Amino acid sequence: MTAQLAPEIRDLLLPGTLAWLDKPPLAPFIDGTWRPARSEDRIDVVDPGTGLTVTSYTASSADDVADAVAAARAAFDDGRWSELDAEVREEKLRHLADLLEADAGTVAQLEVLDTGKPLAEARLDIDEATAVLRYYAGWATKAEGSVIPAPRRFLATGTREPIGVCAAITPWNYPLPILMYKLAPALAFGNTFVAKPSEQTVLSTAYLAQLCATAGIPDGVVNVVPGAGATGAALTATPGVDKIAFTGSTRTGQAVMRAAAGTLTKVSLELGGKSPQLVFADADLDAAIDGVMDGIWTNAGQVCVAGSRLIVDRRIQDEFVAELVDRTRRRTLGHGLAPATTLGPLISAAQRDRVTALVEQAAAEGAHIRTTCELPEGDGYFVAPTVVTGARPGQTVEREEIFGPVLTVLPFDDENEAVGLANGSAYGLASAVWSTNASRVHRVSRRLRAGTVWVNTYGVFHPTLPFGGVKASGFGRELGSAAVEHYTELKTTVIDLSS
Ligand code: NAD
Repeated sequence: MTAQLAPEIRDLLLPGTLAWLDKPPLAPFIDGTWRPARSEDRIDVVDPGTGLTVTSYTASSADDVADAVAAARAAFDDGRWSELDAEVREEKLRHLADLLEADAGTVAQLEVLDTGKPLAEARLDIDEATAVLRYYAGWATKAEGSVIPAPRRFLATGTREPIGVCAAITPWNYPLPILMYKLAPALAFGNTFVAKPSEQTVLSTAYLAQLCATAGIPDGVVNVVPGAGATGAALTATPGVDKIAFTGSTRTGQAVMRAAAGTLTKVSLELGGKSPQLVFADADLDAAIDGVMDGIWTNAGQVCVAGSRLIVDRRIQDEFVAELVDRTRRRTLGHGLAPATTLGPLISAAQRDRVTALVEQAAAEGAHIRTTCELPEGDGYFVAPTVVTGARPGQTVEREEIFGPVLTVLPFDDENEAVGLANGSAYGLASAVWSTNASRVHRVSRRLRAGTVWVNTYGVFHPTLPFGGVKASGFGRELGSAAVEHYTELKTTVIDLSS
C-alpha cells in the first residue's frame, strides 16, 4: 500500500523514509519473522500535523501475543542470548547502535509522522535512544557480582542473573527513547524481550525490530506486537512473562499492576506527572523564563515531566508571566517537518479536544486564560500554547495531568508556601528550583517529593541519570545503574568448603 501523504510533506521526506513507508512491516515480529496478525482490528497511522491517514495495520491478537511470549521464552530457555559471552552481546548491541545512528534521519522522520513533534526534537530522541543503547551495551561486560561475608566454612557469592522474558508497554510521546530505556538494559543483561508500542506510534519500534535482525541479534530475542490496549492487556495476562516495564498513564499503570498480580509478574511503572517549577525572586530570571518555557512547550507539553505548574514569587509574577508570554509568541506552530516549526500538534483529535475542554473549564471556573501563537491552517491537531493564571490550588487545571501546552501559574509569598504548593499534588515525577541562593536550593530540593529535582535547569536526561517517580508517578528507576535492579535477579550461591 502506498503511503498517503500530503504532497508538500512527501517532498520533504528522505528516499529511505519513502521507500520504507511504501512497504512498512507493520505486523507482529515473532521469532525473527513478520507474521500476519490474527485479528480483525485495523488501526490507522495518522499524521497529527495534517490529520491524514498515512497507512494502517492489523492489531496483534491475544494469540499473536502468546506466540511472541513463547518465542521469547524459547529464546531465553535455550540460552541463545543469555549464554553468549557478554562481549558478544556487547558487540551486537553496539552494532545495533551503529545501524540506528546510520538511519537516524529516516527514523526521525518516521517519528515526526507518527507523533507530530518538530524534526529537531525527533532527531534528539533518536540520538538519545542511540546513546542509551551504547551505554547499556557497555554494562554487558561490566556488571560484576560480589563475594558475601559468610561463616568461614562457606564461600558465598552474589551474582546478577537475567530475569527471563521482559515485556515493555510504551506510550506515544517518546516512542523510541522510552522503548530503549527498557530494551537496552534487558538485552545487555541477557534477557529476551517482547515490545508493545502505543497503537498511535508503531513506526519506529517496527524499524528497530528490523535493525535488530540486521545486527545479528538471534531470532526470538526481540519480538514486537503492535496493537492497542487489548494487546497490552493480553501481554500482562500471558503466562511466561517474567517482568513488565510499563510507561504510560497512572490509570493504565494501575490496570497493569492488577493484572500482574494474577501471574505474580514483576512490574515497574513510569507514570504521569504534574511537575512544579519553583521560581524564586533571587533566580536568574532570564534563564528561568527560557527554562520554564522549554519545560512546558517541548513536545507541545506531551511530556511526562512537563513543568506544567509554575510556582512563582508573587512579587515577580506579573513581570515574569508577561515576558514568558511575549517570548512564547515568537514560537512557530506547524507541521513537524516544516523547517520553521518550533511547536508541533498534539497526537490526536481526541487529545486536542480534551486539552481544549480542560482550558475552557478553567475559564468557566474563573481562571484567566492567555493563548499565544497563531494556529496554522489545515486539519492538524494544533493547540496554541496557553498560560492560565488565577486558578486555585486543587482546581482541575492545576491538579490534572493535561498532557498539552498548558501552563498553570500559582503565586507564593514565602518558601514554605512554595514547597507546600509543589508537594500538593498526587504526582511526584519531576520538579525544578530556580534560585541563586545556595542554601535555599539545598533546603528546597531536599523537601520536594519528586523522583528528580533539576536546579537552574530543566529536563536534563542522560543515560547515567536514574529516572522515575514517587506517589502516583509510579515506582522503579530506569537509566543509569538503577536498571541493574530492574533487569537482573540477585542469586546467592553458598559453597561448603569443608568437604
Ligand atoms: P496510556 O496509559 O493510555 O497507554 C500507554 C500504553 O499502555 C499504550 O501502549 C497502550 O496501548 C497500553 N495500554 C492501554 N490499556 C492497557 C491495558 N489495559 N493493559 C496494558 N496496556 C494497556 O498512556 P499514553 O496516553 O500512551 O501516554 C501518555 C501517558 O504516559 C501520560 O500519563 C504520561 O505522563 C505517561 N508517561 C510517563 C512517562 C514516565 O517516564 N513517567 C513517560 C512518558 C509518558
